[in-house]
Amino acid sequence: MGTAIEKSKVVEKTTSRLWNAMHRYNPDAQPTVAVSGEGSWFTDEEGNKYLDGVSGLWCLNLGYGRQEIADAAAEQMKKLSYFPLTMNHQPAVELAGKISELLGASYQTFFSNSGSEANETAFKIVRQYHNQTGNPGKYKFISRYRAYHGSTLGALSATAQANRRVKYDPGVPGFLHVYPPYSYRSIFGEDPEESDLKAAQMLEEMIIWEGEETVAAFIMEPFISGGGVIIPSNKYIQRVSEICKKYNVLLIMDEVVSGYGRTGKMFGFMHAEGVQPDIVTMAKGLTSGYLPLGATAVKSEIYDVFNQEGKDNHFRHVSTYGGHPAACAVALKNIEIIENEKIVDRVHELGETKLGKLDQLIDHKNVGEVRRVGFLLGLEMVTDKQSKTPLDDSKMGEIVGKCKQKGLIIGKNGDTVPGQNNVIIIAPPLSSTEEDLDFIIETVNSVIRSL
Ligand code: PLP
Repeated sequence: MGTAIEKSKVVEKTTSRLWNAMHRYNPDAQPTVAVSGEGSWFTDEEGNKYLDGVSGLWCLNLGYGRQEIADAAAEQMKKLSYFPLTMNHQPAVELAGKISELLGASYQTFFSNSGSEANETAFKIVRQYHNQTGNPGKYKFISRYRAYHGSTLGALSATAQANRRVKYDPGVPGFLHVYPPYSYRSIFGEDPEESDLKAAQMLEEMIIWEGEETVAAFIMEPFISGGGVIIPSNKYIQRVSEICKKYNVLLIMDEVVSGYGRTGKMFGFMHAEGVQPDIVTMAKGLTSGYLPLGATAVKSEIYDVFNQEGKDNHFRHVSTYGGHPAACAVALKNIEIIENEKIVDRVHELGETKLGKLDQLIDHKNVGEVRRVGFLLGLEMVTDKQSKTPLDDSKMGEIVGKCKQKGLIIGKNGDTVPGQNNVIIIAPPLSSTEEDLDFIIETVNSVIRSL
């Protein structure tokens, strides 16, 4: 009894003072306060258990509560609790080497603390690179509408989701946006490959119209995740990569969500044969969310421009906590487990055999399209298949709420465009058991079929 009273006081104090990221005015909201987690499940302060079908914020690749990862952090903290990366420390050196090996080419990695910072770092590297290679006029960045690249002002400027930006604009000058490869609702028609290639063509047109001597880089996720799980054909990624090369526009691949196995490959770009991005940014699954870490991996040819004899060409950028020794040790352990447990193959297989069962929902009147790759799945919800009118926010909230009542947390795209937040998102931990996946399938099926 005593414990119950103490607990509820703690909760009241926490929720009344905490400003959480999804806060909206809602006097009836019952905040969930998590206290523990194991595998794909977390438990709230009242003892309710929920399967986390969105892996926190798409970051819990190995799920909650892995003892080995906690031990790796503790061991590192005892050994060397902090060290700045204005010098080197052993876990960061080892991790940078491992990242280069995983990317399949020679890359040099700059560490930070989050996905937003990893992208900010990339933008600064790109501008300085062009500056130091005789192209100081190349300063513009192009990204796609619906993309999310982070919350800080530069990353937000690359984020092309109207609702996220409206009260913070104007953004940083020099960020442009182009049409996404979104064949379900495209001015280029519904044939996925043809429509996607035309979207790529639009990128080329934009580079030409802007003046190739002004365009610095194109940033993309291989599969738009937060903007509604938009999955282009592999040919789109290949074509975009060719266009970037043609105009000396660096290709920044944002693998913050798709990295470390989420899509059934170690990195999402690896679905498109022959593509090797100039820069790869990552965070989230790099540590499975156990500690914050961001990374910006750049091709060694680019790094060389910052490291030239007799020139003061170094990158004037520093991060106090970026590449924290404990975070790097956690990332190394995380990657070791992903490799030892063959998580990437598992995601590829179970994505097909288990989550693939949700394809059948396409026969439901409100499901316009089922889009999925690995453990990343989106259900585009509509009022009817002919008009494709997006299901309204309250209906979408109802689906998410009913799943939660049944013990399953799922997501939906948030602040893309007014009236177009109609994609249900499912992205469970990559270590989810087959029973966990069955639970997701049954719950989502029963909630949607009850609409
Ligand atoms: N890039 C993508 C594709 C993301 O989804 C996110 C976050 O959701 C970010 C970047 C920003 O990452 P962070 O929240 O760690 O700053």
